Amino acid sequence: MNMVALITGASRGIGRGIALQIARLGGDLLVNYARNTDAAQQTAADCRTAAREAGHAIRVEICQADVGQPADRRQLIDFARSRWPRLDLLVNNAGVAPHVRADILDADEASFDRLIQINVKGPYFLTQQVARWMIEQRQAAGAEASYHPKIVTISSISAYTASVNRGDYCVAKAALSMLTPLYATRLAEYGINVYEIRPGIIATDMTGPVKEKYDQLIAGGLTPIPRWGMPEDVGKAVAAIAQDLLPFSTGEVINVDGGFHLRRL
Ligand code: NAP
Repeated sequence: MNMVALITGASRGIGRGIALQIARLGGDLLVNYARNTDAAQQTAADCRTAAREAGHAIRVEICQADVGQPADRRQLIDFARSRWPRLDLLVNNAGVAPHVRADILDADEASFDRLIQINVKGPYFLTQQVARWMIEQRQAAGAEASYHPKIVTISSISAYTASVNRGDYCVAKAALSMLTPLYATRLAEYGINVYEIRPGIIATDMTGPVKEKYDQLIAGGLTPIPRWGMPEDVGKAVAAIAQDLLPFSTGEVINVDGGFHLRRL
């Protein structure tokens, strides 16, 4: 049976880049999205093609669910369970930026609440549900079995970088960063490794509105590797985890940021 991966927010951007890399490995995919059914269907079709070109036959399903809504999270897990007997990989990728970048002296609570709901509560409680399912499967398979599911959460350099015109996003990503040490600690006894990937500046719809600003910063030396990150850069990091290439590492933070995090003198 193929590996089975559930990727949240996989219709566009980084999630789509991750889905394509998993497809190339021959993994089945559940592509979650919020609203954009056309984009989700396109990603699913492109994943099937990518898998076929790599010599694999995979199953790809799409499922609309707002990860910020408890009922939608339940429905997403029910959908996955109705289609596959087990899950090998959860990627908590879905996330949103504030509608308006507002100075922290002016920003309102509604935007803060929205980002906490989607970017923190969503992955936190989706992980709880998925972890319970993975534990069930692990116990059914027996402790010696080769079933080693994994959980990956996509946070951001904003978890530790102060951007005063989107404090809500920074606080949400900093909070999200605690998910990985918590679940890594709790799930190690079940053979479930948990990782955080911290992307830097990645070319997606989310960064489209600030493209010129980041073009200038990158040209000015912001990142040691002087280019935009691409969704496939994040996808390849997830692919390494999915292939079990980090078996004795859990709770790790993997920076996919062109070296942005390095202190330089
Ligand atoms: P994006 O281009 O805006 O795509 C967002 C994806 O998430 C879409 O597939 C969207 O679905 C889905 N989504 C949004 N809200 C959702 C919800 N409530 N429930 C389920 N799915 C939802 O964003 P991106 O740049 O790829 O970002 C992906 C993740 O990486 C986010 O967590 C973001 O914070 C993080 N990140 C991005 C960057 C960057 O530079 N781009 C850097 C660091 C971290 P629809 O198509 O249906 O709208």
